[in-house]
Amino acid sequence: LNRRLAEFGTTIFAEMSALAVRTGAINLGQGFPDTDGPEEVREAAVRALRAGHGNQYPPGPGIPELRTAIAAHQQHRYGLAYDPDTEVLVTAGATEAIAASLLALLEPGDEVVALEPYYDSYAACIAMAGATRVPVTLRPDTSAGTYRLDLDELRAAVTPRTRLLLINTPHNPTGTVLIREELAAVAALACERDLLVVTDEVYEHLVFEGEHLPLAGFPGMRERTVTISSAGKTFSYTGWKIGWITGSPELVTAVRSAKQFLTYVSGGPLQYAVAEALRLPDRFYAELRADLLAKRDLLCAGLAEAGFAVYRPAGTYFVTTDIRPLDASGDGIAFCRALPERCGVVAVPNAVFYDHRDQGAPFVRFAFCKRTEVLQEAVTRLRKL
Ligand code: PMP
Ligand code: GLN
Repeated sequence: LNRRLAEFGTTIFAEMSALAVRTGAINLGQGFPDTDGPEEVREAAVRALRAGHGNQYPPGPGIPELRTAIAAHQQHRYGLAYDPDTEVLVTAGATEAIAASLLALLEPGDEVVALEPYYDSYAACIAMAGATRVPVTLRPDTSAGTYRLDLDELRAAVTPRTRLLLINTPHNPTGTVLIREELAAVAALACERDLLVVTDEVYEHLVFEGEHLPLAGFPGMRERTVTISSAGKTFSYTGWKIGWITGSPELVTAVRSAKQFLTYVSGGPLQYAVAEALRLPDRFYAELRADLLAKRDLLCAGLAEAGFAVYRPAGTYFVTTDIRPLDASGDGIAFCRALPERCGVVAVPNAVFYDHRDQGAPFVRFAFCKRTEVLQEAVTRLRKL
């Protein structure tokens, strides 16, 4: 293994899901729903397979039906107009979109400013591109039970070598939804310092407080922003790995240059099904949010009763907790390794999403995209800690 990748080991999600399988524990670690998404979407995939739609290589940028549906979604939800032919690219999940964007846009030695804690593939992809990550730590506000971006720290992190800001809102793992003032400041900074922005908005529809505001909608941002999303989160088909980017023709062409040599294309028949999914009525999104909101509240209440300090998420399907009221050592990694044996529940230590490990040490993430009875049983077990 080369030096660029050696530091990353095995992704925490694989490690923790394997631990759940080995111990038979309830898996609130890796973020995937334990029920599938809408049946009509699954049926659309079956129809496409049977009709032979997409069983051979689909077009490089994605099938026109899906690109059109993605553009229509951006227009309908956010009033952002993208040309399906030149400003939309279908990818193998958001994961490939992140990799292709960073590989296409970075030069070796460039600096990337990213919000810490960060989703684990960011650091690895920045490293594969030969670039350097510069973390800006989201600060926990213990009394409010939330995290906030320190805009002065963000500004101070930008140097003459900074090429790109890597943003994620709603934010995994903290559940933070960046507010208008924060996003406006990010946008102003990007314009002032002439930076590119890659924004991972895969949890755009999982927002419980406030609203999701796409960074590309802020002044001066459309031409410098690559926006990433994915069907995995919104439609509860994480195994399908259909993601996409929207951006200017120049940026989309650049990302496609990398993407064509990573996977070339993927998920042919599933692309037809996701095109249908994107045409679901607004009611679908309202129901998804209401369902997850109830689950968020159930799990947050249960975790608080069990003794955790809870950072109530404004978005995503993750809740971050501080274990110190329960475990004075504050070692979240050791806590998560022991948790299945202690009470039959798997969680993920946030420390692995930090370069400043000490900043993340006591925080542990639980996923609530699970059936209500599963969450209830997990809470019953956690209360015995
Ligand atoms: N970005 C973030 C913030 C995520 O949480 C995830 C999913 N776990 C991804 C990207 C990857 O999405 P996909 O499964 O579509 O590759
Ligand atoms: N995004 C999911 C999470 O944060 C997991 C994705 C993965 O396993 N790579 O839990």
